[in-house]
Amino acid sequence: MISNPVPWPNNARCAVAFSFDMDGESNLLRNFGPRAHTMIAARSLGRFEAQAGVPRILSMLARRGLRQTFFVPGWCVEAYPHAIEQILKGGHEIGHHGYLHEDPNSMEEDEEREAFWRGHETLVKATGSAPRGYRAPSYAFSHRTLPHLIEAGMAYDSSLFGDEVPYLLANAGAGDVLELPSVLALDDWTQYGDFEMFRSGAPIASPQKAMEVFRAEFEAAWTCGGHWIPVWHPFLSGRLSRCMAIDGLIGEMQERGGVWFSTLGEIAAHLRALMQSGTWSPHVEQLPFDQSAL
Ligand SMILES: [Zn+2]
Repeated sequence: MISNPVPWPNNARCAVAFSFDMDGESNLLRNFGPRAHTMIAARSLGRFEAQAGVPRILSMLARRGLRQTFFVPGWCVEAYPHAIEQILKGGHEIGHHGYLHEDPNSMEEDEEREAFWRGHETLVKATGSAPRGYRAPSYAFSHRTLPHLIEAGMAYDSSLFGDEVPYLLANAGAGDVLELPSVLALDDWTQYGDFEMFRSGAPIASPQKAMEVFRAEFEAAWTCGGHWIPVWHPFLSGRLSRCMAIDGLIGEMQERGGVWFSTLGEIAAHLRALMQSGTWSPHVEQLPFDQSAL
């Protein structure tokens, strides 16, 4: 059902890479500036992540023997060094997610550059190495984002939706970056994100209902040789009932078999090796898109 499926390691039926965006209070601080200081309840939602959500997710992943990927804005890296230490200690990957969860789609060129490199620098300082992957805050990948990723030597981006298999983002001979696309059905905001203060209007689903949506995507990926990359947030999915449901889903996947659990960085490395050996080739998307029709 999908063209150009990726040959996964050990003949796995699909690749599974949980990705968690630890946004903390960065969204709130960006949207409300100094006023965020007065919004104790709203801030407590973000603070829940370092206090309980991330530790719970980390202990669940450790119990299941999995290493996964966390995207963290630079501000959160500085505000919650202990959580970052714990993520690294568990052998997980940390990816770039802006500095203060900025929206590149509404920024000037120099503002986007400054936010990108400030976030990058913060991660290098905290982890000791350059991040291998990027997810644009709020998926707001702009027409100017790709050159930064290439300059930073990023192996992959995971912000876009242009295919159901990985593909290549190319910039007119200046280089390229692998795109590991997700699907909005796998974003937990669509199930749990009912916060007027964050301008979201989704009714809150039960973990069982949410898992039904997430599981449907997994079944399709497993059947057709695809990949499954949920975009989950510890302040939502790290809550007790939801984390228990995730744990159950991982158990089902592990029991079924044929699943390659990996970080996004490992997927990107696998794809590059396939490309170099000529075993698999992605479709290439040239960026920025043609503007002549506008
Ligand atoms: Zn985010």
